[in-house]
Order: sequence, then C-alpha cells, then structure tokens
Amino acid sequence: MAGRINDEDIALVRERARIDEVVGEYVQLRNAGGGSLKGLCPFHDERTPSFQVTPSRGLFYCFGCGEGGDVISFVEKIDNLTFVEAVQRLADKVGVQLRIIEDGRPGIEPGLRMQILEANDAAAEYYQQQMVTGEGLIARQFLAGRGFDRAAAEMFHIGYAPRGGHQLRDHLLAKGFSPKALVSAGLVREKGWDFFQGRVLWPIKDSGKSVLGFGGRRVYDDDRLPAKYINTPETVVYKKSHVLYGLDLSRSNIGKKRQAVVMEGYTDVMAAHLSGVDTAVAACGTAFGTDHARLLQRLIGNNGALSGEIVFTFDGDAAGQKAALKVYQGDSEFVSQTYVAVEPNGLDPCDLRIKQGPAAVRDLVASRIPLYRYVMDNVVHRFDLDRADGRIAAVRAAAPLVSSIRDNSLVDGYLRELSQMVGMDVDEVRREVARARRNPAPARDQRPRLSVVPDPAPAAPAPTSSMPWPDPSDRRLAAERGFLKLVLQYPQLFDAGWNLVEPADFRHPAYRAVFEAVSQVSVGEQGWAQALVEATADPVIKQLEVALLVEPVLTSEPDSRYAAAYADRVRLLSVTDDIAELKSRLQRTNPTTDRPAYNAMFTDLVELEALRKELIASGSGALEV
Ligand code: ZN
Repeated sequence: MAGRINDEDIALVRERARIDEVVGEYVQLRNAGGGSLKGLCPFHDERTPSFQVTPSRGLFYCFGCGEGGDVISFVEKIDNLTFVEAVQRLADKVGVQLRIIEDGRPGIEPGLRMQILEANDAAAEYYQQQMVTGEGLIARQFLAGRGFDRAAAEMFHIGYAPRGGHQLRDHLLAKGFSPKALVSAGLVREKGWDFFQGRVLWPIKDSGKSVLGFGGRRVYDDDRLPAKYINTPETVVYKKSHVLYGLDLSRSNIGKKRQAVVMEGYTDVMAAHLSGVDTAVAACGTAFGTDHARLLQRLIGNNGALSGEIVFTFDGDAAGQKAALKVYQGDSEFVSQTYVAVEPNGLDPCDLRIKQGPAAVRDLVASRIPLYRYVMDNVVHRFDLDRADGRIAAVRAAAPLVSSIRDNSLVDGYLRELSQMVGMDVDEVRREVARARRNPAPARDQRPRLSVVPDPAPAAPAPTSSMPWPDPSDRRLAAERGFLKLVLQYPQLFDAGWNLVEPADFRHPAYRAVFEAVSQVSVGEQGWAQALVEATADPVIKQLEVALLVEPVLTSEPDSRYAAAYADRVRLLSVTDDIAELKSRLQRTNPTTDRPAYNAMFTDLVELEALRKELIASGSGALEV
C-alpha cells in the first residue's frame, strides 16, 4: 500500500468511529448490562449471542469463535479489507481528513475509495440497463446459449457494455463523476475510452454487496482485444488476489453450511446457485491463492480448528491437476479441509446443468474427495505400479505429500491410503516415507510434487503460536482470569506493584504472559489497552487480552478492596501450591544426611505457612470467584 497514514489520524478515526454504531450496521446489538452490548456473531453461525461489544473500550470479542479487536479490525475482518483500507473507509464515514506520510511512493487520496465505489455502482446499473437495448441482444443470446434466462440475468445483475467507446464515460460524467474517479475506478482508460467495450459483464462484489469491479467476456468475433475474459485492472478497491465472484450471494450460506465451493468461471457460479449449490464462488482473472483461502476460512468461521470444507471443482484434465497441486502447496492446514469434485466427462458445472440438469451439479459437489487423495493418486499413477521399483519410486514421490502434513493425527490415515493405492505393506510405506524425509531432495523446486508446476507460489507462513489457550471455565484458573480482567479493565484499583502479585503466581502460561505484557506498557494512560494489544506479537496472547478486556467482571462496581482481595486470592493459591511442593520435597529429603538443605526448606515452609494464614485472614479465601 502506498504511503502510510499519520498515527494521530488513525487515533482520531478510532476515537470518532463508535464501535457500537459501526458493528450495529452488521449486527443487531442488545444491551447486555455493565456497559456492554450483545448480538449474534457475524463471523460464525450461532443462535444464542456470544458476540460482545464494549463501547467504552472500543473493543469487540466473540466468546464463541474468538474473533475480537477494535473498530478498525472489525471493518477489516467483516469486509475483508487491509488495515489502510479499513482506516480509509472509517475516515470517510466520520469525516477525518487523513494525512498520508509519503515514503517515496504515490500517496492515497482521501475519499477516493468512496468515489470509486459510487462510480462502480452507477456503472453496474448502467450496464444492466443496456441488456434490454437492441445492441444488448448479443449479450442476451450469449446467456440464453448458456442456459440463463432473463430472471437469471437479473438475479446476477449481468450487464452489457456497448461498443461505442464513450457511452459509459459520458453517462457517468453527466451524473457528476470526475474523469479522475472514472479512471481510478478502472471504468475509463487514461485517454478517455470506456474500459469495457462490446462485452457481457459480471459485476464482482464484496460480501457487503459493493461493486468492486467487473469481469467481461468477449462476444464479438471482431473484438479488438483477443482475450476471452478481461477484468477490471487493479484499483484501490479491486485487488484480484482478494476478490471472489459470487461472494455477495454465498457469504451467509458459507457461514451457515461451513462449506464453500470454488469454481472456475462466472457462468459456473451462476449455474451452481441456480442448481441449489448456494455456496459457490470463483476467483476472477487469476488463480485461486492464499488470500482467497484466508477469506473463505474466515467466512467458514474457524478458530484454528480444522472444520468446514472448501470444495474445488476442477476439470479432470492436466490444467485441473495442476490447479489442484497449486492449492496443495498452500497452507497444509487449509489442505486438510480441502476437497475436489471432478466431473468424469470433463464437463464444467455450466455445461453439466445444461446437459444433465441441476441435480447433476449438486451431485458433482456431493461426490467430492479429499484433495490430498486426489493429488496423491495423480502422483502415484505416474509410475508403473506393476513393478517393485515402480512402487518404491511412487511412494518416494508421494512421501513429501505425506510429510508436509503438520497435523500428526492425519498422517496415519494418509499412510494407509498411500499403501492401498500403491499396493504395499503400510509399515514398508512408513519406512520409505521416513527415509525420504531424512534425505529430502536437495532443493525445494526439485521435489517430485513440485515438478509439474513451473511457478510454485510460496506458502505464506500462517501466524503460529505455541501458547496453549486457557479454558475460560476452568475453576482452578478462575482467580487468575478474574484478577487479569480487573487489571486490564480497572487498573486504577490496584497499587503500583499490582498488590504484590508476581508473574510466578500464575499457573497458566498464557495468563502469565498477559500479566508480563501488562508490565511492558504504561498502564492507565489514554489508549493504553489498545497499545497493549498492538504491542503483543503472539496471536494467542493478543486474542486473550482482547477477551479479558471485554469479558464482564463478576461484580457491577468493583472497588479497591475487591481488587485487593482478588490479588490476595491469586497469591494464596500460588502459595498453597508452593507449600504442597515444598512438603513433597521435604519428604524426599533426608534430615540427617542433608541437614542444611532440609533446614532451609523447613524455614521457607514456615514462612509460607505464615503468609498463607495472613492471606486467608485478609478474607480472600471467602471471595467469590
Ligand atoms: Zn463468533
């Protein structure tokens, strides 16, 4: 992204954009008491609300799926925008003029994004009107030939771009759009010609139904542009690696059914929706990539857990196999929830609907098999499995497929399937895979699984964390959780040393890490909670901080006595643990042969017991946590 937004402006946007109002445009929020609001989570399918917004802190958190953050990250997640785009959208809304810090690259013009979206909307409407004109006949004939009637064309807002060369430009200029906005939107070329001329157009929308750009198909034999399909060029709003055709129609179904079906073309997506496969989408003018995968995973609504499925309908030909391999090289977590549906006669979903009817399209999707099995099968059958050396070579070629799986619980199943495919004993296969792992091919691009793909996209590292997620309902950890909620939400109730609580008092490493993170920031200053969350690198700890900032504390009006009792409670449990451990060590120490150590431990024990009595007397033992 070009340039950087001034930090003060970002802070101002965050302050002015009220999170309850922004979220309220997407989620019906009800008062949940304690200054919080509750609603049904837009990021996962649920019937009882676990999505909470705390306007006073500007944060949201879902106790069901774990999504959480501030108003900017809400907009980023809900509309699949980058940070800068989300800030711009909010700035437009609340009237903040963003100052862009130039770093040698062209800057971002404030408000341009909104102008582009408005121009795109107006263009989509214009194109749709052209469908019913005399010139639009060719577009209607094209659609009819693909099995789509007028109702279908209207449902998908299909349009037609006339051939004249300036009609769209003149129409939009008359409506008051600036020439610059039309060029920035990719609707008009620099020299004033309409970008699309004489083409059938599919509007490509985001999940919020804003038109981001268009895909256009050639319908005239004498079209000066040879490409069968052209798409809107990259603009501020249209990023081909981030957009999916059909998302506006499928978004809520993807979340509900925990499934997305990825097809190859616009007409395939139309055929799918008209056949009852209402989770279908397609990449536009580019191969399906990592960013698309992330977008779908977010809509399916996982939280690190491997659930839901993404089904690809590939052609069974070489191109389809290549596409499958490309997906396979991505994030292996993604691979394990990925399926392939291959039509045996090579028909795409659009042709399938015409020739065999809508049920055949549904059956195709239902016939999906796991992607790893499809890819493994393709690799293995390049070898002569009737020969012993052919079988060994096949296993070695497939070995990287098995060993690239990060989830160990899946590896056994993969090994068993591979042994069946090749016709070898499973233990023998396991040994060969282990051998191939110890002696991998010298360079990544020489490994067999990559040999058929000339341009492998590097798999982006998924954010990882080794930190375990603490169970919020764990009674043994209730005091630690309650204490941290008070620390984060009501820091002013504690003394400067957090009432003597230390990191070592926390039994759960994630809680300890949150407490340690708190000591790294200037607590209590304006926006300190925001700074804390931003400064945290570990994604698990970050998420936990947001949860603890939003989760209500157990009393409506906590005071410093309540906070002190909580601190004592955490220390009491920690001391009690220490005492138990010390007692066990004393039992294992011989008082006669190891006198000094025994005496030291005994002295510690007496001190700890005294501290324990003191903490119990302070009343923390009776505290309800
Ligand atoms: Zn949720």
